[in-house]
Amino acid sequence: MAKKSSKIYIIGAGISGLVAAKTLEENGYTATLLEATGEPGGRVKTATIDGVPFDHGFQVLLTDYPQAKKHLSYDALNLHYFKPGALIFKDGKTERIGDPLRDRSAFWPTLSASIGSLGDKFRIYQLTRKLKAKSIAQIFATEEQSTSDYLKAYGFSEAIIHNFFKPFFTGIFLEEELNTSSRLFEFVFKMFGEGYAALPAKGIGAMAGQLVGNLTQSDFQYETEVSKVSAKEVHLKNGKKLRADIVISTLPLDTNGQITTQKVAWKSCDNLYFTVEKPTFETGTIGLVANTNCLTNNLYYLFEQQQNGDAVLSVTVVKKHQKNEAELVEAVVQELKKECGIQVKTFIKNYHIQQALPDIKNLSMEPSSSSIKHPLGIYMAGDHNLSGSLNAAMASGEAAANAVISDLKA
Ligand SMILES: Cc1cc2nc3c(=O)[nH]c(=O)nc-3n(C[C@H](O)[C@H](O)[C@H](O)COP(=O)(O)OP(=O)(O)OC[C@H]3O[C@@H](n4cnc5c(N)ncnc54)[C@H](O)[C@@H]3O)c2cc1C
Repeated sequence: MAKKSSKIYIIGAGISGLVAAKTLEENGYTATLLEATGEPGGRVKTATIDGVPFDHGFQVLLTDYPQAKKHLSYDALNLHYFKPGALIFKDGKTERIGDPLRDRSAFWPTLSASIGSLGDKFRIYQLTRKLKAKSIAQIFATEEQSTSDYLKAYGFSEAIIHNFFKPFFTGIFLEEELNTSSRLFEFVFKMFGEGYAALPAKGIGAMAGQLVGNLTQSDFQYETEVSKVSAKEVHLKNGKKLRADIVISTLPLDTNGQITTQKVAWKSCDNLYFTVEKPTFETGTIGLVANTNCLTNNLYYLFEQQQNGDAVLSVTVVKKHQKNEAELVEAVVQELKKECGIQVKTFIKNYHIQQALPDIKNLSMEPSSSSIKHPLGIYMAGDHNLSGSLNAAMASGEAAANAVISDLKA
């Protein structure tokens, strides 16, 4: 096989596909990315309106993600950082829980917050230290249980689980019961403890923009929907067939190579944006609503204001609901007033994200040799192959590309 000139197709130009293309380029191989939509980035998407970046769903880059450190240039992303911890809205009161080791001003508010006992706060400190010492490989080799069971077994009180862990991790896992694997909990808690949650100044989509901008050889074919693949052929939805030497799919496939994204169990959310005359709490702070009857899970003020000086508030709803947009907006507006004392000025927009995170059991850090290669000989990437996170998407793309390179060299 003419190795460097092999025809390599990557199906999907999300973060995993882009990192696969980057890894191939770094090793002298060139790929063509086939993307169903008109732009790269997949679930990492920002719409910029009048200079304000509206992310399609609140997501953060955890700066200590090993894969992100390898594949992104943080300086060029001009990152805004969130303060460690959160502001918790509960029963008409606002309490702050922070990391006194990194933010001295958080010491007294954290110690005196009534959302958990002193023992709970000590256990948070202890857990942070324990996970600092535990490697990521050790985390993913530890037996899994639900995060909820893990927290109880660790000795945390019902109060701190209800008031802090539940709202905080509901926003990350996009599910309210904390049924998500304790491996992901430990990994994310470690990442929060060792780095910062951050957003590029131009929105989360800038991450994809940077990866695309650094690709010099790869070819992109947009509005190109793939229906089925085999090791040597790509079938497009329009009936066309493309001959291939190598196919990397970032999308789940059935045993016949048919794309089965619709069959994955997906977790969804709504992300609403409002204007508020003046921010009611500090920019760079994540607010959490501890009342589990509320639709609102988390809120933060965008680092950028609207051109007329209004602050922009992002609100995430994770709870399942049957409301239409007008009903949802009305319910959230009332909750913001009652729970957080926030009077919104205008509703800007809502992004309903039906396929936000794949619901996966048996989480791993790296794909196994069986999961990286489909029985039909297709190389597999995508967060659905590991766990729903930017780090996992990047790891899966890199691993699939490395498997291709190693097979082409063999
Ligand atoms: C609301 C939300 C919040 C999140 N929060 C966080 C967070 O805080 N931290 C974190 O680390 N991660 C978070 N994530 C997860 C992270 O964004 C994903 O893990 C990652 O973007 C997945 O990348 P991917 O390449 O695996 O998949 P995708 O981004 O889904 O890429 C797949 C690509 O394939 C394309 N495609 C689909 N079907 C076809 C087809 N038939 N033919 C051709 N192309 C096709 C899609 O258009 C897409 O571009 C969040 C995600 C969402 C949506």
